[in-house]
Amino acid sequence: MTNIRFNALQMSMQRPKRQIPTIPNRPSAYFGELTFNKAAMSDFLSREAYKAVQAAVEQGVKIERRIADQIASGMKSWAISKGATHFSHWFHPLTGATAEKHDAFITLLEDGKAIENFTGNELVQQEPDASSFPHGGIRNTFEARGYTAWDPTSPAFLLDGTLCIPTIFISYTGESLDYKLPLIKALTALEREATQICRYFDKSINRVQATLGWEQEYFLVDSALFSARPDLALTGRTLFGHASAKDQQLADHYFGAIPERVIDFMREFEYEALRLGIPVKTRHNEVAPGQFECAPAYEEVNVAIDHNQLMMHLLEKIAKRHGFTVLLHEKPYANINGSGKHNNWSMQTDTGENLLSPGKTPEDNLKFLVFLVNILKAVDTHADVLRAYIASAGNDLRLGGHEAPPAIISAFIGSRLTQALNQLEASPNQSDPKKSSKPYNIPIIPEILPDNTDRNRTSPFAFTGNKFEFRAVGSSANCAVPMIALNTIVTNQLKLFRLETEQLVAKNIKPEEAMYQILHRYYEESKRILFEGNSYSHEWVLEAATRGLSNIADTPRALKKLLDPAAIRLFEDNNVLTQREIKARYEIQLDNYIRKVQIESRVIGDLAVNHIIPIAIRYQNQLIENVIGLKEVLDAKTFQSLSKTQTDTIRDISDHIINIKNKVQLMVETRKQVNKYDDIEQKALDYRDKVLPHFKDIKYHVDKLELLIDDEMWPLPKYRELLFSR
Ligand code: ADP
Ligand code: MG
Repeated sequence: MTNIRFNALQMSMQRPKRQIPTIPNRPSAYFGELTFNKAAMSDFLSREAYKAVQAAVEQGVKIERRIADQIASGMKSWAISKGATHFSHWFHPLTGATAEKHDAFITLLEDGKAIENFTGNELVQQEPDASSFPHGGIRNTFEARGYTAWDPTSPAFLLDGTLCIPTIFISYTGESLDYKLPLIKALTALEREATQICRYFDKSINRVQATLGWEQEYFLVDSALFSARPDLALTGRTLFGHASAKDQQLADHYFGAIPERVIDFMREFEYEALRLGIPVKTRHNEVAPGQFECAPAYEEVNVAIDHNQLMMHLLEKIAKRHGFTVLLHEKPYANINGSGKHNNWSMQTDTGENLLSPGKTPEDNLKFLVFLVNILKAVDTHADVLRAYIASAGNDLRLGGHEAPPAIISAFIGSRLTQALNQLEASPNQSDPKKSSKPYNIPIIPEILPDNTDRNRTSPFAFTGNKFEFRAVGSSANCAVPMIALNTIVTNQLKLFRLETEQLVAKNIKPEEAMYQILHRYYEESKRILFEGNSYSHEWVLEAATRGLSNIADTPRALKKLLDPAAIRLFEDNNVLTQREIKARYEIQLDNYIRKVQIESRVIGDLAVNHIIPIAIRYQNQLIENVIGLKEVLDAKTFQSLSKTQTDTIRDISDHIINIKNKVQLMVETRKQVNKYDDIEQKALDYRDKVLPHFKDIKYHVDKLELLIDDEMWPLPKYRELLFSR
């Protein structure tokens, strides 16, 4: 009888070290060599074509058909010069993954010869056979076509010999079937509103772009051990597993020395990422053993998101070469830190100014306050929208789970800014400023060093010196989802602010005075969203409730907020998503939630009944044989006293087996009931409220068995092995 776990452990220990390719020591020598960036464009495009692409990127100017042909031809020559044979439209369907369909650069001629060809049409639009991507009812079978269309603002790149062209994905009727189109719409809306506000202060500003710097957390696990855990392989997380005697309690992993095999993986991964133009910068160990983080320099949001999607793919691909599997799940291990993807977000002007950097002059300070207070107001008004846009089955285990921080959206700004805002509030609200001779008082905000110690790592939305860090995003998420929400709520708020300002200015109030008055009121209205304390504490849960803040612990209830009339209006008014698109997304996500919990439940049943119980019985039989043997060789009295441990264990094992059997049966029966529902909303709720709670009960007994049964027989790699085998 072979033990899968021991085989896996042996494979992991005997794994040969991978020889990584020689990497030039200057990244400048290879940075971006696999992207069709400005340098490649200037080499391969005519001046006219080059200018057309830049105008499309910078001003959204449409590219003419004739020019598209030229661009396609240049792109093809560039790609072929780098060894490419195929091209593909690369898009983000609502599955959350990325999709590609490869076509060869080949056209057959009449004389039987072939030439490499790539036309403007092929670059600009494709009709992938995409009928099995989720559409939430948007694409009926009679209109089953979906189109991808080129997004020139995100550079094309080469992946495994294929020229990948970032595209949006829309239905025949023009509705979005992806994350990129609403994202671009939200970013365009923000650009428009933020630019108008900036121009109150500085007429030289013509454009504002939102910026995103993500930090990606992930776990690495040896691939052999991963494969020996059906739960990891099928659901991305361990559904059973007793805690390791040592895990993260010594905090000795955080920022610790990175193991050699991991370093080799990281160096190769970073090399490949840099070649693709992803500006990866920092790497370090995270809190949990086996957990790591990677963060690039920030970029324009749309490009940063494409880079994150690409980077998740690269992580998985390069890790395999080193015998690792990457876990992007939000909570692969119980009782150990989960993984997030912090979204650092700010806005930058075309004059190079970061709008969330506190200024040096009073005008700059006012501008800073305008953006700061409006963001806080937006987060307060639309906290439920933000919560809905980070909801997923995996993230539920990180937010509002048992050992996780609560799912309350609040904002942290640090003591210095709190002081400044209190000053704003304390000075008189000149409701009739014409009467008052006193000049309004703009608090002086000292420049805050981004790295000062005034940080709060428990806040879901924290100001960190010159940007906000949205920390509640899950590690496997497509950042486009939270970015659609954040940029839309801020756009909407800036628009309201501008309209209010215009009204006061029309009454002959100076713009600065008008703004000051409005900010004063906004701060009062929204300051309940500010929380500087420990967001993980129980006190905060109580306190937040008295402040009237939502605490939505699970995905079905969080998603329901997508359908709030105010939320629908928000996205419709700002031309980001239509009601139909929102409803479709709602259904797709609910369905996804149901499937995920359903798969987990099935895996739990299978593992418990077919893997764990048979082993438990086998071990129990050994004990029984042992007891029978003892009885034969010992006199009755000695037997009584010496066999007690074994007989107790035999009884305990039986107890756990019976419990597991009963609870699995109960879970399966409930699941069967719930599966019959037609109402998808009720189905999701009951998966959450009636099926999911069984997981913990079953896990309890399986984990107890892990402690009782002979280590040599246990079939699943244990936590200590998963966490520490590197
Ligand atoms: P920490 O882990 O302490 O939060 P890091 O230095 O690891 O900090 O990450 C900071 C992140 O913030 C990086 O991803 C960086 O790109 C990003 N960032 C810095 N400035 C900006 C900005 N102006 N806009 C958006 N992101 C930014
Ligand atoms: Mg961070």
